[in-house]
Amino acid sequence: MSASAPEDDGLERVEIAANRLVDLHGLEFGSDIRKLSESYADLDIRSIPAEVDAISLGLIGHPPLPRPRIILNSSKFPRQGAAQYLVRRYRFTLAHELGHVQLPWHTGINVCHSEGDEELDSPSISSYEQEAHHFARRILVPQRALSRALDECSKSEVLNLLDEAAVHFSVALRSLIELLPPGHVISAVRNGAIERSYRSDHTGPRPPVPGMPIEDAGLDALACERIEGQIGGRKIVWWSFPSVIEFDSVLSDVKIKELWRQLLDSLDLGGRRDSLRSSADGKFSTTMGLVRKGALPFTAEVIATHVLQNVGSEPKLREIYNHPDFRRYVYARARKAEDKGE
Ligand SMILES: [Zn+2]
Repeated sequence: MSASAPEDDGLERVEIAANRLVDLHGLEFGSDIRKLSESYADLDIRSIPAEVDAISLGLIGHPPLPRPRIILNSSKFPRQGAAQYLVRRYRFTLAHELGHVQLPWHTGINVCHSEGDEELDSPSISSYEQEAHHFARRILVPQRALSRALDECSKSEVLNLLDEAAVHFSVALRSLIELLPPGHVISAVRNGAIERSYRSDHTGPRPPVPGMPIEDAGLDALACERIEGQIGGRKIVWWSFPSVIEFDSVLSDVKIKELWRQLLDSLDLGGRRDSLRSSADGKFSTTMGLVRKGALPFTAEVIATHVLQNVGSEPKLREIYNHPDFRRYVYARARKAEDKGE
């Protein structure tokens, strides 16, 4: 085994190692990570100064040990009756250390700090730390178990299972969103405001931004389904969007540019007119870019739906979106794009 991980296939190797462990131990949501760790390393709980959560010492490199060792900082260790978020954070720390022990190129001593929240940690951590985080996420939220749940369970049940995984909501929701097809937005809500949002690839609507009151998210009217649940003490809202909506197919002699100009003229946009027009036009470019990449099917209905959802989810474009002719304009323009095959 090579001593260093090439950057480009590092995460692929992490995936393989994590999936092997998941299969070997039949890991599901909420598995006993302590027991699992103890089958690969000696666990040692002791006081470590500073903000360190844990230290792992592997078999390769210094110091030489008969068995890998994971030292957990006793001041971060959740006592009986500790708050849920501390328990979740501790599970992530332990799974992260197990990653260092399991990934053969993570040699020597690793000194680690983690909030148990991948996104909060990520900007400042090394590639080894990112790999151990990725490993932790894969064993705490096993992809195969999650895929099976998506096939067999309702969305509410999927959220319940993810809560049982006992991880920070970001670990659960990142795992979920990457398995979903286009057309899903999921937000974590705290005290009535959006804390973070996630969107599956190539989804039309924009995710609501952090800090926005949930009632201003404006996605309910665009969604075909809205589910609420709880993960790690956060309210979770999961919107699903149709890939195609119905359009009035009677479009004879629609002069597209004229329709667009009249539509904009009839709204009292003042000095915002040009920037809103180019912002709305930009949505067509975004959608057509995805169509050209093959990420979306090249049909007028799909293009128009995607553009409408994108425009409809942007608060500053709401007047345009709500104009009675906008839908007709979008569909006519999408039809023209399809006819031209551009
Ligand atoms: Zn680490």
